Amino acid sequence: MSEQSIDVPALRKDFPILDQYVHDKPLIYLDNAATTQKPQVVIDRINRIYTRENSNIHRGVHYLSNQLTEKYEQARQRVQRFINARHQHEVIFTNGTTHSINAIAYAFGEKYIGPDDEIIITELEHHANIVPWQVLCQGKGARLRVIPFNDRGELIMEEFEKHINNRTRLIAVNHISNSLGTINDVKQITDIAHRNDVPVLVDGAQSIQHQKIDVQQLDCDFYVFSGHKVYGPNGSGVLYGKEKWLEELPPYQTGGEMIQKVTFEKTTYNELPFKFEAGTPNYVGAIGTAEALSYIESLGLEAIEAHENDLLQYATSKLMEIPGMKIYGTADRKISVLSFLMEGIHHYDTGMVLDKMGIAVRTGHHCTEPLMDHFGIEGTVRASLAIYNTREEIDQLQQALLKVKQMFS
Ligand code: PLP
Repeated sequence: MSEQSIDVPALRKDFPILDQYVHDKPLIYLDNAATTQKPQVVIDRINRIYTRENSNIHRGVHYLSNQLTEKYEQARQRVQRFINARHQHEVIFTNGTTHSINAIAYAFGEKYIGPDDEIIITELEHHANIVPWQVLCQGKGARLRVIPFNDRGELIMEEFEKHINNRTRLIAVNHISNSLGTINDVKQITDIAHRNDVPVLVDGAQSIQHQKIDVQQLDCDFYVFSGHKVYGPNGSGVLYGKEKWLEELPPYQTGGEMIQKVTFEKTTYNELPFKFEAGTPNYVGAIGTAEALSYIESLGLEAIEAHENDLLQYATSKLMEIPGMKIYGTADRKISVLSFLMEGIHHYDTGMVLDKMGIAVRTGHHCTEPLMDHFGIEGTVRASLAIYNTREEIDQLQQALLKVKQMFS
């Protein structure tokens, strides 16, 4: 473990949005799995682009364009280092996780999926890692196979070996479940997959902000995430792919910038990474995301993990003190997400009353309807904790939930 620890009161000052009242109560923001708040350095970085640096990148001969092109490519380098990609051109900027998964579903599907082929996903997935594969399979006459999880919310790992066969073309799995917090053993999955020559796409939407990511160590073929969930701006994201795949896959969007030469007879494509970045990229989002990665790196990923793990243990024990409380997702290895229901109280009612007390949580199926079906429920209340949350906020959540219980009993 690193010596570094997080000074939460100091850190909270970096996030101006936290310092406000909602419904006359101090805001307690526990909806971090949906989106994280932005530190001042990220806000300032974006502000500086629009006040001093803005210009379309890559195509300019003038000063501003060249300067910002350099910053954009530095952002790519920053992402490369952060996830330990082997090459800078293995990092493609996108609009977010959903965009990245759709891009691979299209490009990979075009080249490698045919009738009777199979794609493996899991019962734990977010809709963003279900629907693109389902639509692809429907279009190509291929089949989707689904790895189940046990009642603690852990994938049944033996099922991977059972489901893989000579028709399996790809496995798509989330690193961490947004609804249950389960940390999946992605390395074990890539080992099994690669023994069978099957590539793996990892949905990192919920892992990039919580733990050190090393795509070479995970040995995943694709890793995708969204900037807005890692303290960066909305509308930006990353698609990492191993060079050999990105070289082989066709572009999923066409237009400017992704070309080498265009004539009316024929177009040839640009080299990586530009082949996958058609049109004007969201350079503001990319540079803002890189700034956010620098910010959390300065805090230390191990320190973040330690702080959030402490909050998870504390919150779990505080919630379990409440009679009639049921927590969904009790995996041995999980992050600071608490999905729960209180006996006889609808999740929506709980969320509405918490809101009136200044506490922001999410309610519903969290874009994981098949996961909710597994438990035979419609949805949960989800409190998802981040670097700026505190034990005091958990105490207030517990008190508020006791009041909700009183109101509805
Ligand atoms: N995958 C997971 C596990 C998620 O939690 C989310 C968002 O909540 C997504 C994918 C989709 O991310 P985005 O909406 O940023 O594209």
